[in-house]
Amino acid sequence: MTSAPPPDSDRSISANGRRYRWMDRPLVIVCVDGCEPDYINQAVHAGVAPFLAKMCEAGTSMLGDCVVPSFTNPNNLSIVTGVLPAVHGICGNYFYDREADEEVMMNDAKYLRADTILAGFANAGAKVAVITAKDKLRTLLGKGMKAICFSAEKADQLSEEGNGITGVLELVGKPLPSVYSADLSEFVFAAGAKIMAKHRPELMYLSTTDYIQHKHAPGTPSANAFYAMMSRYLGELDAMGATIALTADHGMNAKTDAAGRPQILFLQDWFDAQLGAGKARVILPVTDPYVAHHGSLGSFATAYLPEDADLAALSERLRQLPGIEAVLSRAEAAARFGLPGDRIGDIVIVSERLYVIGTSPSRHDLSGLDAPLRSHGGLSEQTVPLLFNRRLEGVAADRRWRNFDIFDLALNHAG
Ligand SMILES: [Zn+2]
Repeated sequence: MTSAPPPDSDRSISANGRRYRWMDRPLVIVCVDGCEPDYINQAVHAGVAPFLAKMCEAGTSMLGDCVVPSFTNPNNLSIVTGVLPAVHGICGNYFYDREADEEVMMNDAKYLRADTILAGFANAGAKVAVITAKDKLRTLLGKGMKAICFSAEKADQLSEEGNGITGVLELVGKPLPSVYSADLSEFVFAAGAKIMAKHRPELMYLSTTDYIQHKHAPGTPSANAFYAMMSRYLGELDAMGATIALTADHGMNAKTDAAGRPQILFLQDWFDAQLGAGKARVILPVTDPYVAHHGSLGSFATAYLPEDADLAALSERLRQLPGIEAVLSRAEAAARFGLPGDRIGDIVIVSERLYVIGTSPSRHDLSGLDAPLRSHGGLSEQTVPLLFNRRLEGVAADRRWRNFDIFDLALNHAG
């Protein structure tokens, strides 16, 4: 004898110690890469993003804090797991595997230590679709689930087996976008709208790229055009009855002086001068294969020091440098930012809003920069939007919300 399944209002899943109510209508979670809240404000103010304006007025607009380091992978993984990197393990795009004595990309799902909310729903029977701009996130986000899961970057190489869908280029009616273009993100939204119309997934996760945000400040014509485009597609998803919940992986700031010159602290050179060449190993977790728009320069670094190094004295000297916001030991950084202690160095350095951290000048190719440097990684890029097309209920006003609360807010608090 089989009993009838419970009604959706009683169904839920739990993931990493948090409980999530089942979707009462399709839920689209959007992670807009590098979306400083002012991008939305400026686009709405300019009158070019009417649906975003409607979300602000008739839905709910709040601010939240992202995870530090304010980089793409740690935050996307926090959003889809609902927990800090200390739990899910992804604390950068790139890290130094001390056991293997190797600097490696943290793209492989083997580095992910927690199950995702997406997999929780998919494995409980929900129809799930995940679309990313760059392929680097796809395997992490798609870990442990049977669902539609693909990147715009490789939308021409899909298989039913690996991606749960084929024929996306034909469905979307757009050519394969270049990896360095606004089109890559537009493809994510366009595919999301077509897939919602055709397959009606109960849960959709859309994650864009910050190509525009690295080049264009809030309110500029190119930035407004991007948010106008996004507003149109989100309006389409809204018209199909979806709940839309938007946040960002991190903000974005100019990292230049008044003359537009990048303000770079070359820390490998600094440690080499203090300790001798190559004694310390500076790791920049912003590093990824797509360097053209930021030259691997962000506002967060960690360093592995020789055993006899005087951590306290070095920290004190670092704090004297211009542009330094915080210098923390491994234990302090792990506690303050919720990071996995075994995947960060002996010391963590965060730079101020207008500064980035590099290793040595020869190791950063800035030739791809065709606009003054804008980047992220630090505490100054921690504030991100939390924007919903529905009113939220039972949300404490005095609580510090995080971008990784977005599934909780959308599923447990949307009215
Ligand atoms: Zn990002």
